[in-house]
Amino acid sequence: MTLSPHLDELELGSAVEFPPEPHAQLLNPRNTERYTADMLQAVNAVAARIAATDRPFTGTSPARLRPAVNAINLDRPLSDTAAALEELETVYLRDAVYFHDTKYAAHLNCPVVIPALAAEAVLSAVNSSLDTWDQSAGATLIERRLVDWTAERLGFGPGADGVFTSGGTQSNLQALLLARNHAVEQLHGPTGPRRLPHALAPLRIFASRASHFSIAKSAALLGLGYDAVISVECDRHRRMDPDALRTALAESQVRGEYPMAVVATAGTTDFGSIDPLGPVARLSREAGSWLHVDAAYGGGLLASLRYRHLLDGIASADSVTVDFHKTFFQPVSSSAVLVRDGSMLRHVAYHADYLNPASAAREQIPNQVDKSLQTTRRFDALKLWLTLRTMGADAIGSLLDAAIDLTFRTARLLEADPDFELAAPPQLSTIVFRYRPAGVGEDCTDDLNRHIRRALFASGDAVVAGTVVDGRHFLKLTLLNAETTLADLAGILGLISRTGDAWLRGGEA
Ligand SMILES: *Cc1c(COP(=O)(O)O)cnc(C)c1O
Repeated sequence: MTLSPHLDELELGSAVEFPPEPHAQLLNPRNTERYTADMLQAVNAVAARIAATDRPFTGTSPARLRPAVNAINLDRPLSDTAAALEELETVYLRDAVYFHDTKYAAHLNCPVVIPALAAEAVLSAVNSSLDTWDQSAGATLIERRLVDWTAERLGFGPGADGVFTSGGTQSNLQALLLARNHAVEQLHGPTGPRRLPHALAPLRIFASRASHFSIAKSAALLGLGYDAVISVECDRHRRMDPDALRTALAESQVRGEYPMAVVATAGTTDFGSIDPLGPVARLSREAGSWLHVDAAYGGGLLASLRYRHLLDGIASADSVTVDFHKTFFQPVSSSAVLVRDGSMLRHVAYHADYLNPASAAREQIPNQVDKSLQTTRRFDALKLWLTLRTMGADAIGSLLDAAIDLTFRTARLLEADPDFELAAPPQLSTIVFRYRPAGVGEDCTDDLNRHIRRALFASGDAVVAGTVVDGRHFLKLTLLNAETTLADLAGILGLISRTGDAWLRGGEA
């Protein structure tokens, strides 16, 4: 029997010659010395770059960087980690955006804690995959402990469960998928979810205007369409207005629709605003809806020593999203979706003979793939594990508390300056504001703030974000760095006004 035409041509028994180099790059008992030496080189390259960095960004542009990246011949390897790292310095490390810098105050990117980086080295080298027990062993148990730990901090009971995900977007998608299938089951019985398309039309999701765009995206991905999301008005603090929610639910009921999910946001991406969880939970329950709390941003409050009360009421949620890679100071990616009733995860359980046969479930072999949208999955939980085992939750919470304190102090600085205008009082660790010296009109103020943001980024001296509030362009600071001082912030505000004034002098001509 011919196994393969290629095997036929091989002289079986003769040594097959491989160049020695590829073998030397495999991590195995023979190559541990090389492994440690190369890892150390990589770590040293990062350490040297970070030590030399004195601003968040060099201000490079795609036009400047693209030719250098494109000029590299990927079919001509350098055959040496040191040389590859040296090259990487010029195409990436030197010009990267550094979130640890105290003048980085733009998006929800955090400085990362070192125990989590040690964990990254461990988890990628062992390379466990958290789909099945036979690809992970203890890693699965560690992830389950962290799911339980998080659920307990949420105030969920013993029946809670959850799974780590790649980020808040995926956590929200999974939560809404559970909510969708739960709703279809309510309407059409246990076999309903097998015949979904016919059952989707009446389903609606209620989320505030300030909710994350992944809610609308999830609705589209789940076959409901963007229009299935009913936008609920906010109060002037950009928190969901419970009266508006009550009205929206009632109007929807009159139209014969079905409230599949109410989404409360605990920490909106722009304003850090936290929807009134208690009243929203009550309305959701009365309507017979699933309550999802998107705490991708506010989840870090679970470890806070002084601001945990901001999450009061979260225990009534059916599902919660927590992004550890935002307010737990973990490197990307690390997120989780938690459910109060663990049995709801059955809505993502499928069995495959080659992976997680139903017999394994009967033998109670812990396979996380039964609960996840992903198959092969990183052991991201290890980062939080080593962080908790090294520093503890209080230390993590104190880092967030420092960032929140700084936010309130910075807002006072802005309030005291008549040239600045706050869009809303800060509630977590973001500030939305604009630079508007006396006598500058609305349209010009839009251009001015757009220009300031771009000019700062191009200078690399500070990085701030921008957003649109009621049709007007605003600047945004997201503060997650406990090392940043009020003096750093005063420095950023000084850069903003100087940049703005220079533009006004030249730009109005
Ligand atoms: C960041 C964020 C998300 C999305 O999380 P990713 O980890 O970026 O996918 C969802 N919701 C809110 C409120 C967020 O701030």
